[in-house]
Amino acid sequence: MRIYPNCLKTTLFASILLAFSCTDESTTSPTPPVTDAPVAIYVPAFNADSAFGYVQAQVNFGPRVPNTKAHETCKNYLISSLKSYNCSVTAQTYTVTAYDTKKLKGTNVIAAINPTVKENRILLSAHWDTRPVADQDNQKQTEPIDGANDAGSGVAVLMEIARVLQTDTTFKLGVDIILWDCEDYGQPANSGFPNMEDSYCLGSQYWAKNKPIDYQPKFGVNLDMVGAPGTVFYKDGVSLQYAFGVVEKVWKAAANAGFGNVFVNNTTGATMTDDHLYVNTIAKIPCIDIIHHDASTPSNFPISWHTHNDNINAIDKNSLKAVGQTLLQMLYEEQEIIKKNAN
Ligand SMILES: [Zn+2]
Repeated sequence: MRIYPNCLKTTLFASILLAFSCTDESTTSPTPPVTDAPVAIYVPAFNADSAFGYVQAQVNFGPRVPNTKAHETCKNYLISSLKSYNCSVTAQTYTVTAYDTKKLKGTNVIAAINPTVKENRILLSAHWDTRPVADQDNQKQTEPIDGANDAGSGVAVLMEIARVLQTDTTFKLGVDIILWDCEDYGQPANSGFPNMEDSYCLGSQYWAKNKPIDYQPKFGVNLDMVGAPGTVFYKDGVSLQYAFGVVEKVWKAAANAGFGNVFVNNTTGATMTDDHLYVNTIAKIPCIDIIHHDASTPSNFPISWHTHNDNINAIDKNSLKAVGQTLLQMLYEEQEIIKKNAN
């Protein structure tokens, strides 16, 4: 019943519902008005072609492994692109020590939309570095992967959202887009090094311990592996534990945007260690993870996860569209909620 693909049809659908409810009330019985109808609000279209281009651009630099040339050039590309959309961009630089004792030079790229708004800011994030090894592949395990999906896809969705939001002067909400670094340098099995706890997500851990902001965002949404064909998202355990209301909000927005079939109304039964964990536990900001769950694989991640098949051919514009449009829907619905609460 709620399958409608874009903002125009959302509005149309709501109008039809309201029309029916009025007709019912005036001509037949005193049926109460429909209260759970999607609100007829303007939501701009998310351009999946544009988002795909951002995935391609990242992959073209080569694997974005910390301390490499490709990593550096991609960082400059992300910063200059976000600046070109008039975002207020800052680079949080740091050095972290990886499981293999290497010192990684990291940069969290932070783009603020409506930076003067200090209340009710929303955090959107994804990691922009890529895995240095293909430890889930049968071949070339020591070589780095393209990371088109993990997590070029999430970065691409957020780049497109930044571009779209900055073209809409009616959008007044404060949004912080954070592109984490040093997420995927985590310790592989049988690495030969002593076990290191929390070896993934070093950039978000650093940010959470050294927040470069003087306010507390209201909530956060992290994206990871959002571009594979046939992607579906389940509600993960950490998200439900720390940010139940945010899960409900985003899944509802997905249904309203016509992507209830992608955001499945079920749980993974798993707890996900991803950047959102540290935003919740260290930064104390309720944050959820939108991450591909595939129950048919041993890892429960897409089959291309941490393999050389995680390349541009593993990206489907339909998946990018579902996530990007859902996030836009959520942001514009949130703007309405805040407006109503202010009145
Ligand atoms: Zn990964």
